[in-house]
Amino acid sequence: MGIATVNPATGETLQSFRPATDAAVEATIGRAYDGWKSYRVTDFAQRSAWMRASSDLLAVDSADVARLMTTEMGKTLKAARAEVDKCIRALNYFAEQAEQLLADEPVEAKSVGAVRAYARYEAMGPTLAVMPWNFPLWQVIRFAAPALMAANVVLLKHASNVPQTALYLEDLFRRGGFPDGCFQTLLITSGQVESVLRDPRIAAATLTGSELAGRSVAAICGDEVKRTVLELGGSDPFVVMPSADLDRAVEAAVTSRIQNNGQTCIAAKRFIVHTDVYDAFTDAFVSRMRALRVGDPLDSHTQVGPLATEQGRVEIDELVTDAVERGAQLLCGGRVPDGPGWFYPPTVVAGITPEMRMYSEEAFGPVASVYRVSNIDEAIEIANATPFGLGSNAWTTAASEQKRFTRDLEAGQVFINGMTGSYNELPFGGTKRSGYGRELSAHGIREFCNLKTIWVGA
Ligand code: NAP
Repeated sequence: MGIATVNPATGETLQSFRPATDAAVEATIGRAYDGWKSYRVTDFAQRSAWMRASSDLLAVDSADVARLMTTEMGKTLKAARAEVDKCIRALNYFAEQAEQLLADEPVEAKSVGAVRAYARYEAMGPTLAVMPWNFPLWQVIRFAAPALMAANVVLLKHASNVPQTALYLEDLFRRGGFPDGCFQTLLITSGQVESVLRDPRIAAATLTGSELAGRSVAAICGDEVKRTVLELGGSDPFVVMPSADLDRAVEAAVTSRIQNNGQTCIAAKRFIVHTDVYDAFTDAFVSRMRALRVGDPLDSHTQVGPLATEQGRVEIDELVTDAVERGAQLLCGGRVPDGPGWFYPPTVVAGITPEMRMYSEEAFGPVASVYRVSNIDEAIEIANATPFGLGSNAWTTAASEQKRFTRDLEAGQVFINGMTGSYNELPFGGTKRSGYGRELSAHGIREFCNLKTIWVGA
């Protein structure tokens, strides 16, 4: 697929873009590097003012940007508005907190023979951000806000199906006052990424997306000895134990699975339910999933819009078909509807076994699998039986079970009795094939900093 805006609700191509030429890419990297030389010595107060101005502009643009995202990748307008609000909060959070999060870390000087010694966080330089389409604004902002506040400059290679959102982001930071070269969008194909990564002026890279893309970027950066952060796929478990508040658990299960039309990395995808509450949970879950309104994402009554790409729908349908052909039971959904657009119904599948692809692969669409287990050991075993380790969710009021889940779930985050989410204040990231490194919080802003040791003698 070329670089283009294609409306997933209709399949209509609205605007196509030519990938940047080698000369244009070279000029963009040059602007980033030159711009960084003066940007790196700006102070927090100045960067914070530009960040706040960008946040204010985003608030003004909110309705238009939300509509643009819905048009480019199909999320409901309501979800798009919520995404804009979340981005505004992140811009303000890092504008406010960066100086404190990156404060020098003094050590007791005498013990190291100095009069003064400390560690200091310094920007690394131009950083390439390779980003996915699923949260086209948020994925970029959650990296860019801390990166810019740490005095790095950003080059964005966004997913090919959200070029207008990518261009909007460049425009936003420019209007916010960030100097030339601080935030630039490169409209390039994934095939052009390697030459950017190998350019000596590029200091580091971050990628949010699939394992395949992450592996490629990490391999190149490994070869170049450049730092990377990888935020990759997930197949989060959602465990329900007998003591759980079932109403709240069902509500969270539905919201988590269908948010963003089922295309969220930290969505609960595998529902692992204790046999004592399996029937009650599954009946309520399936009836709620079946009742969801699927349709035009611009309609305020719609709860589930189309998948973002035609290929995405093919892949989710293949995953469900594979499971059903190997003996899984379809509890609802599971059939591609007729008509235009890349719609797929909310689907629940039971009886998943290890031979089925859905047991170990990520279901990136509104498809849930439910598992019946007889005890916590079995629940944890199935929860961990995945190459991924992004988020996880457990529902229990028993303190001993909470302790087990906290200790034994193999994931970057464990949420107990509440839906897994991302917060500016909390580190976000994965383990195993879900990637490495963290975004958000103090940990996120420090990822692309050189921690410089300062030792001053008499
Ligand atoms: P994707 O195909 O990997 O695309 C993500 C980005 O990587 C796009 O900009 C894409 O560009 C680029 N890309 C693809 N192949 C590349 C390569 N070989 N070298 C360099 N860049 C490459 O992923 P997606 O299908 O858009 O996104 C869905 C995946 O992202 C899911 O697995 C989801 O779980 C994961 N995700 C993870 C997080 C997280 O925080 N952990 C958040 C959101 C999504 P083109 O569009 O031009 O191909």
